[in-house]
Amino acid sequence: MTTDQIHKIIIIGSGPAGWTAAIYAARAELEPICYIGVPRQDPAPMLPGGQLMLTTEVENYPGFPKGIEGPEMMDAFQQQAERFGTKIVGEDIVKAEFNTDGPHTLHTSKGNVIRAHTVVIATGATANWMGLENEMRLARSGGGVSACAVCDGALPAFRDQPLAVVGGGDSAMEEATYLTKFASVVYVIHRRDELRASRIMQERYLSKPNAKVLWNKVVRDVIGETSIEAVELEDTKTGEISRLEVRGLFVAIGHTPTTGFLEGSGVALDGKKYIVLKDRSSRTNLPGVFAAGDVADPTYRQAITASGMGCQAAIDAEHWLADKDIT
Ligand code: NAP
Repeated sequence: MTTDQIHKIIIIGSGPAGWTAAIYAARAELEPICYIGVPRQDPAPMLPGGQLMLTTEVENYPGFPKGIEGPEMMDAFQQQAERFGTKIVGEDIVKAEFNTDGPHTLHTSKGNVIRAHTVVIATGATANWMGLENEMRLARSGGGVSACAVCDGALPAFRDQPLAVVGGGDSAMEEATYLTKFASVVYVIHRRDELRASRIMQERYLSKPNAKVLWNKVVRDVIGETSIEAVELEDTKTGEISRLEVRGLFVAIGHTPTTGFLEGSGVALDGKKYIVLKDRSSRTNLPGVFAAGDVADPTYRQAITASGMGCQAAIDAEHWLADKDIT
């Protein structure tokens, strides 16, 4: 379906960045439409609401002294956006045609075509998983497998327990260092004999008394019915199989920003496919096209920073519309 209507603002994405942009845009009477996406399983599980839908308790978002479940938090964000008149559409945007003279055209997964003067891209990033069946099962059920130690690592179930982190980059070092505060011992499981992480991040981790690295190892299976009990490891040099008892497994093998649908749209991406922003604003290289949250943030990737960026994007879009006398 194509209509002649040109909307003031379309927001793509429904994590903290998308909902915060929607709340601000709605309160500014821009009548936002938020495309929240459709659930998918591949290549990794993702739900409308984003990565927080796959998180258990969120304890580090200010304002929730007792913590809040990730999905409950996203539901509250959505209700707040709806309260001010955000219209919600359960479709994916599959293709974008940005026009430097505006308006922009977006194509949805149901074959609909919509147009808008401004677009906020808040499609997030998906944590990379190893892709093992039992890894995904225990990640979905909250069985001690997670892709975010900062989100989940401080939960009581992990206190004084042996925990493992997969990966050898800065994220793995950061997550493993964080976990040394709670765990009896942390094992970094890395597939090579040399870490990819920066020297300072390596040293910070390795200086902890309960930090260990298992070199040349890959996880072949995750063992446990309702919660993780162990991982099966394979030595990449010798092929030897071993079992490591752990009560938590944190996968830190990188994130993939959700920018595939922007291919050919002209939005500038960096070498890792994150959207490039201008001058610490939410502006992309294209007029009227803004981005917020993990899709444009390879560094912080927190719910609170995504929310802040969503706020910036709505304000930047509002100013852009005002400059063009679009009311
Ligand atoms: P990354 O640098 O791409 O590292 C990913 C790690 O996961 C690598 O060690 C890689 O092994 C391993 N890996 C990838 N696929 C794997 C698989 N299927 N099985 C097992 N291991 C696998 O990603 P990142 O650590 O998330 O960092 C992303 C960017 O954010 C980097 O630029 C980083 O510097 C930055 N960052 C910075 C900070 C900070 O400064 N505070 C914190 C976090 C991230 P190989 O080494 O063998 O390829």
